[in-house]
Amino acid sequence: MRKTFPYTLAACAATLFIAPAFAQQDFSKVEIQTEKLSDSVYMMTGAGGNLGVSVGDDGVFLIDDQFAPLTPKIQAAIAKVSAKPVRFLLNTHWHFDHTGGNENLGKAGAVIVAQENVRKRLSSEGFIAFFGMKTKPEPAVALPVVTFTRDLSFHLNGEEIRALHVPRAHTDGDTIVHFAKSDVIHAGDTFFNKLYPFIDTSSGGSVAGVLAAADRILKMAGDKTKIIPGHGPLGDKADLKAYRDMLAAVSGRVASQVKQGKKLEEVVASKPTAQFDEAWGKGFLTPDKFVEMLYGNLKK
Ligand SMILES: [Zn+2]
Repeated sequence: MRKTFPYTLAACAATLFIAPAFAQQDFSKVEIQTEKLSDSVYMMTGAGGNLGVSVGDDGVFLIDDQFAPLTPKIQAAIAKVSAKPVRFLLNTHWHFDHTGGNENLGKAGAVIVAQENVRKRLSSEGFIAFFGMKTKPEPAVALPVVTFTRDLSFHLNGEEIRALHVPRAHTDGDTIVHFAKSDVIHAGDTFFNKLYPFIDTSSGGSVAGVLAAADRILKMAGDKTKIIPGHGPLGDKADLKAYRDMLAAVSGRVASQVKQGKKLEEVVASKPTAQFDEAWGKGFLTPDKFVEMLYGNLKK
């Protein structure tokens, strides 16, 4: 099932959850799908976070890299749209369904770039409390060699590619990427399209930060802007607005019950997601798990 529905499967934490078994996981049937978004920018999907790719005379700029066993397939998919190797690799955040290929691509010569907290988290032992999952420090070759605190611009392939840090959102190291001329934004895991999102409080994430990130992207986007979510199908401004409104409504309902001192069971039983379940509840976080995640986040 995980391979048949790449974007329902892929949600970051689901893959983190199975991490201990991931070495044995069979990636042989995963196919990398490529969608052309502009003359130079593509979205690629496989298993794990959605990839963004810019190609042109200056070389390949890649956003995220899914899992290590998929590196040859990702390189093959890139080879179909560019004869050049990956020159820059930007990690939208540290979760390893977005950074699993770092070691392979670092060894192949890519310059890895990320917000400074991504390097901190990748270079030390990690823990994702909601899934009770520990991660090991990555080897030096898999770590970002260029880090930034707030923002960074690349001038590549005929356009400015802006990497913007959005604080305390899905984690404490999220970057959104704006391809100005191509009119494409990669939102990383600050945007789950048509899936209830996971927000990693134990990595410094917060509901308020995800809402702020969505607002920031909505300000940058026009009606025709293509928005690559961390998970889920390609989206646009209307999709992101619907996501933002869903998250604001459900988290508002959960927050008011937290304030009243309600127990988790009571909040779940009140079904604060009911109106959204048809459209959003078929991904990896069930409605009840989504409410549980918000409850833990908002109780802090
Ligand atoms: Zn993630």
